[in-house]
Amino acid sequence: GVLDSFETLVFDEVRFRYTETGPWVLNDVSFRLGKGDRIALVGSTGSGKSTILRLLTKTYDNYHGSIKLNGIELSRIPKAEAGKFFSLMQQEVFLFNESIEFNIGLSREGIDRADVVEAARYVYADHFIDDLPGGYAFELQGNGANLSAGQAQLIAFARAIAGGSEVVMLDEATSSVDSVTEQLIQKAIDHVFMEKTVIAIAHRLSTIQHSDQILVLDKGEIIERGSHGEL
Ligand code: ATP
Ligand code: MG
Repeated sequence: GVLDSFETLVFDEVRFRYTETGPWVLNDVSFRLGKGDRIALVGSTGSGKSTILRLLTKTYDNYHGSIKLNGIELSRIPKAEAGKFFSLMQQEVFLFNESIEFNIGLSREGIDRADVVEAARYVYADHFIDDLPGGYAFELQGNGANLSAGQAQLIAFARAIAGGSEVVMLDEATSSVDSVTEQLIQKAIDHVFMEKTVIAIAHRLSTIQHSDQILVLDKGEIIERGSHGEL
């Protein structure tokens, strides 16, 4: 069927506001994401970057204009069906007081240990996990307070990969992490960029440089677009 695998995502003059009478948060946003494309969203705080990703997770369906997934209006596609195309790595990391294995595997039902380890390897988290007492059985506490901030991000990244979705949505964290984990995160992002379709809210210059298309948002409008060389 048409929704068997990801082909295109097309935003066409999308306008959106969170409440009936509130201000427009997205204003005529248009762009096209094809298979294998990498789009970076940049712009000041409140410019609407995360809102674009929230529309894709179907948190809200009351947008104006059109958002088409493989040519089908997103608002007509059931949430579960649209959801299998996209995995989101959020800026805020949410971790359960459970094992690392549980925290990585929870995005996919029936996932086994080998797939969890593969996802961890994919984002270069396997080495630090192996060094923890108990490895994948290591129990997290306090939303990952017993890990470094960067390690917690890598666990969340591994979870997004373990889900197996074709399109990865990254909301890059702004929090600073130590330089060793920063390098791991960078490698993980590079790996995802080589093999997946990506839409990234980007803070790192390297993420922006590796994107095919950069959309600069300001107050819900795309004020500039192009490659890193063009802008
Ligand atoms: P940041 O860089 O700070 O993460 P952003 O570009 O991701 O910013 P959004 O989170 O998309 O910005 O927010 C865009 C606008 O929508 C902001 O003015 C924000 O206050 C508003 N907004 C966000 N979430 C809601 C909500 N749930 N209800 C009402 N307004 C909201
Ligand atoms: Mg945001």
